[in-house]
Amino acid sequence: MEGKVPIPHVLIFPFSFQGHMNSMLKLAELLCPAHFYITFLYSDHNHKRLLRFTDAEARFRRWPKFHFETITDGLPADDPRSVERIFEMFDASESIIRALFRDLVISLSRPQQEIPPLSCIIADGIIPFAIDVADEFKIPIISFRTVSACSFWAYFCIPKLIAAGELPFQGDMDVLIKGVPGMEGFLRRRDLPSFCRAAEFNGPVFQSLLRSTLDTTRASGFILNSFEDLEGPILSEIRSHLPNLNCTTWLDSRPSNSVVYVSFGSVALVGRETLLEFWYGLVRSGTHFLWVVRPDSITGGEIDPEIPGELLEATKERGCIVGWSPQEEVLAHPAVGGFLTHSGWNSTLESIFAGVPMICWPCLADQQTNSRFVCEVWRVGVDMKDTCDRGTVERMVRDVMKRRKEELMGSVQKLAKLARISIGEGGSSRSNLDRLIQDIRSMTP
Ligand code: UDP
Repeated sequence: MEGKVPIPHVLIFPFSFQGHMNSMLKLAELLCPAHFYITFLYSDHNHKRLLRFTDAEARFRRWPKFHFETITDGLPADDPRSVERIFEMFDASESIIRALFRDLVISLSRPQQEIPPLSCIIADGIIPFAIDVADEFKIPIISFRTVSACSFWAYFCIPKLIAAGELPFQGDMDVLIKGVPGMEGFLRRRDLPSFCRAAEFNGPVFQSLLRSTLDTTRASGFILNSFEDLEGPILSEIRSHLPNLNCTTWLDSRPSNSVVYVSFGSVALVGRETLLEFWYGLVRSGTHFLWVVRPDSITGGEIDPEIPGELLEATKERGCIVGWSPQEEVLAHPAVGGFLTHSGWNSTLESIFAGVPMICWPCLADQQTNSRFVCEVWRVGVDMKDTCDRGTVERMVRDVMKRRKEELMGSVQKLAKLARISIGEGGSSRSNLDRLIQDIRSMTP
């Protein structure tokens, strides 16, 4: 490694379509002059084609920190890899490539001679597992969509189109679509991505692409291959709606302690009925809310086509729904004044450390006990255990954000201060850590 400044190591991974590989290879070439270590991972099928028809690899020889790696696309050699078989490609991706990709991420994350450990992944946004793997190893991931901004945006709005009854459709293909902001007045049913048509609606490819599109909100960054003068207005729509990339920006415009942050952790499931009760309660509390609804967290797994218009309207005005959030950053944001949480222990500690009072809705295991302590012992929140009707949600949000705001804020700020003292020089947690280090040393022969 050169000097002491760490050199980024970026893994770039396109889906196995040629067009996807081409645009991501161009990005790799643009990054080379920054002298990053770059591992470009692509399918061995594309690798052979590249070698046969172009000198693409030769272009990279002058960049010693650039390396190609290959991986199977999971299909037999004689598979035509045509659009009719596209589902097989997604299927192989999940069943075969996922595990291989995970192994590669593990091995690249280990420091090797001359090569720094992996510090960032730039993955094709349609690869269904890349964000999960990056999350598992806590490696920042940037999602790259190789399609136009306009088609990405149409895809991104599908849940809204379903909620508004514009999807699925049958019959007249020239009916105008109203629910894709920025395209009202000219986008017809026939102009939506083809997977929205009746024959493919809700099919496996539709589902996989939709999930990946909504999952974009879990990435740390997002890249599109376009330019401002071509798709500026649509790019603005995407910027203002791609929630997790923008949720802290959304918070920036809110007054201090005015937003309730809602998240039920990384694994809890919420039924549709419950989700609606929370939604009504939040809307009726009149508070601004930032709500993490993980795409895989709704039981039944499908988007409810009947979300009442009043909820959608109020959410547009006062809410921001995201697929994932940088939670610690969100809790530390001055605009956040309350945390509606499932009382997972990490979330509880993060909330205390950030000095944010809690509204607890424990789901399982230790969370039931945690929430009682939050409410009765530490007195830094309220506990709605075993209830989740809209009236209770509304009342408890009002309690924390208004009625008992000063009292709860006061006690949680005190605990936050104690938490900081405990990890500082001479603090109890710091001493325990030192002791642990000594114990481990003494156990080593
Ligand atoms: N988390 C996050 N963003 C989200 C939701 C959760 O970063 O949108 C993190 C959160 O900061 C916490 C962890 O996921 O560190 C969840 O752990 P916790 O013990 O609270 O709950 P679990 O997911 O284990 O039920």
